[in-house]
Amino acid sequence: MASHALLDIDEQWAATVPFNFYGPCSAESEEQMLQTAAGIAAGFNSPIYRAGIWKPRTRPNSFEGVGTIGLAWLKKVKEEYGFQTSTEVANANHVEHCLKQGVDILWIGARTTVSPFAVQEIAEALKGVDIPVFVKNPIHADLSLWIGALERFNKVGVRKLGAIHRGFHQLDSAPYRNLPKWELVIELMGKYPNLPMVCDVSHICGTPELIPHVAQKAMDLNMNGLMVETHVTPKIALSDAKQQITPEVLIDLVSQLERRARTTDNEEYRSNLEILRGEIDKIDAEAIELMARRMELAKKIGLYKRDNKVTILQVDRWQNILDRSIENGKALGLSAKFVKGLLNNVHDESIRQQNSIMNPDHKRPERT
Ligand code: PEP
Ligand code: MN
Repeated sequence: MASHALLDIDEQWAATVPFNFYGPCSAESEEQMLQTAAGIAAGFNSPIYRAGIWKPRTRPNSFEGVGTIGLAWLKKVKEEYGFQTSTEVANANHVEHCLKQGVDILWIGARTTVSPFAVQEIAEALKGVDIPVFVKNPIHADLSLWIGALERFNKVGVRKLGAIHRGFHQLDSAPYRNLPKWELVIELMGKYPNLPMVCDVSHICGTPELIPHVAQKAMDLNMNGLMVETHVTPKIALSDAKQQITPEVLIDLVSQLERRARTTDNEEYRSNLEILRGEIDKIDAEAIELMARRMELAKKIGLYKRDNKVTILQVDRWQNILDRSIENGKALGLSAKFVKGLLNNVHDESIRQQNSIMNPDHKRPERT
């Protein structure tokens, strides 16, 4: 991936954590909005009240949102409960309506983040407007698209900028609705440590039972807030009925979350951690060195193969390596998935190295 300049984030605003978005998937009626808000108010002082007004639905003729009337209900929630309000915008027209009706925070949906034209149009509509924008990850696992959308907003001057992790569509996402792929989110957090990151547990899980575990994981990764779809009567919700929870369940869920600090002043903890981390750093350095040695051997083998006109891959040999290593790993408490993933990477690099020896003129495109 190309290197990226740091995002220019309003640090003062970013420090106003947590950013917890609670509220229904969709605004359905004034009553549903106010009753849900009342339930949430029983447990929280200053959540951000979320509700979809325009709903991006996979198929036409499903409930596509109540439209602008819902913005009046959001306003009412704000007046009665003092919550900040938030909704999804997917075009410049939505932005205009939201700004007129005093919506406090906008978010960009996963289906919009995939479309640079749409993102650019929304960004242009926000030129010179001081409103926070949270960008959900694109539907599929493409970090560049997510970053690109964040950059488009930043470029027009949006400095109150955050990201929302809502999982990634994948055929084998079970048991989740959208696969969390934490490693991608961690990568984004590493690149932009000042970017607030919210975890949308509802769209990751797709079902209430999984939410506690995912919400706890988000907290343990030091994410900056949760998005939880909350509905006064989830069973009869007009969208995402399967994943919404009642305000009572939400309050219980949040109260059960274990909150751990980023660090501690405890001297013993600090010095022990330092020792253990030192050992880990040493092992990582050794592992890299071992890999370099392994690649030297692979290159030597590549030369023999070239001189003897033998193919790079002997699939039975590779299968043996895999089976043996998975077996060895198992005995040492390593999962088959981990060992397989690790060795696949190593093998891929070996093949690349041998290929460059056998076919020095073929430039394989760099995968980043
Ligand atoms: C939503 O938040 O209701 C929504 C449509 O989410 P996503 O864009 O993540 O699918
Ligand atoms: Mn939803």
